[in-house]
Amino acid sequence: MEQIALSSAGFLLGLSSEHESFRETALRFARDELAPSSRDFEKQGCIPLHVRKRMGALGLIGVEFPEAVGGLGLDHVTSGVVLEAVAEGDFNAAYVQLLASLCGTILLRHGSRDLQAEILPQLCRGESLIALALTEPQGGSDAAALRLKATADGNTYVLDGEKTSISLADQADYAVVFARTGTEAERARGISAFLVDLDSPGISRTRFDDLGQNAIGRGSIFFDRVRVPASRRLGAEGAGFVQVMQGFDFSRALIGLQCLAAARVSLAETWRYIAERRAFGKPLSDNQGLTFPLAECETQLAAARLLCYRTLAAKDAGLPHTKEAAMCKWWAPKLAHDTIHHCLLAHGHAGYSKELPFEQRLRDVLGLQIGDGTAQIMKLIIAREALRAL
Ligand SMILES: Cc1cc2nc3c(=O)[nH]c(=O)nc-3n(C[C@H](O)[C@H](O)[C@H](O)COP(=O)(O)OP(=O)(O)OC[C@H]3O[C@@H](n4cnc5c(N)ncnc54)[C@H](O)[C@@H]3O)c2cc1C
Repeated sequence: MEQIALSSAGFLLGLSSEHESFRETALRFARDELAPSSRDFEKQGCIPLHVRKRMGALGLIGVEFPEAVGGLGLDHVTSGVVLEAVAEGDFNAAYVQLLASLCGTILLRHGSRDLQAEILPQLCRGESLIALALTEPQGGSDAAALRLKATADGNTYVLDGEKTSISLADQADYAVVFARTGTEAERARGISAFLVDLDSPGISRTRFDDLGQNAIGRGSIFFDRVRVPASRRLGAEGAGFVQVMQGFDFSRALIGLQCLAAARVSLAETWRYIAERRAFGKPLSDNQGLTFPLAECETQLAAARLLCYRTLAAKDAGLPHTKEAAMCKWWAPKLAHDTIHHCLLAHGHAGYSKELPFEQRLRDVLGLQIGDGTAQIMKLIIAREALRAL
């Protein structure tokens, strides 16, 4: 893995020396312990427990959570810095942080103190994994139409239905599950969120045979009369949908950095390769037909990265950032995919081989053009926010 020089870039991104020092720790771990094993993680179909625990011991998971629940009490920009550095070593390892941050934020806002104290330290230590279960077989974009039913019964709720396309479905210990406590006509106002222990009786799970992200995996979770204590409802009844949408604003900027990291590493490797490899008696890099598309990628990666950090800084400053988060989410995964595609082609026949990391990175980032909301849905959000501001 190429080490990307960052001190001047850090200044341009508005990062402090503390951010830089976190970045160095995470980058060292990513370079020495993640990048060499990235292909093995894919073959094993998981990020092994000892790797997750190491991430936890280094303080790389949930850095933005309060110290009382195992975090470091730092800002959301630091969370982005750390996640981006980890993704430079292995895209999928960064998913562990992403889902901990997304679900942990919902727990911190809407879970009881007891629940926070029980779950969050396990996530920060890397001992447990958490999933976010929103999508259902009949649709994901129109999430407010979800049908999985939660029926109140004394001091428990009974959950019946199916979630599908859930990252970490067969590996996670817990899931934040969105369920209908009201009527379908109520749409978003009839949805509540629950913290569900995925070992509960009545739960079964499957794993899909996917194109990429195989260390994380995606699958279905089936709920057959699963009892969840009412104390594990997150927030008020009917408030679940709003909760997840608030969490997504944060995670969309993290997803942007995660995808851009895979692209930036690929591009750095490619500049080096075309400077060294020769054809027609000169280095490949003498051909502007090859360097100009890469120069365009370099430009756009810098701009998209800045957008992601600006979005996180807006969150830290308590400023609105829904529109910016949606921009990060549609642009960065597509740009990352296009960049890695260019990098693969610039390596000629070797780029197509599993000996080099480009094909895996290409498959991995592609998933995030769909996961967490498609480009069309992000553009609907941007248009809505722009029109609202008139
Ligand atoms: C790698 C990956 C990881 C995922 N992880 C999770 C997870 O952890 N948890 C979870 O809950 N879900 C997860 N998902 C599911 C994901 O969030 C949904 O796939 C996504 O929201 C789209 O829903 P859908 O697949 O049902 O497509 P649909 O909603 O059926 O849409 C199909 C197509 O139509 C387009 N479309 C839909 N409505 C409109 C419209 N109004 N205007 C224009 N175009 C429209 C969409 O953009 C898409 O291209 C994951 C998906 C992937 C691929």
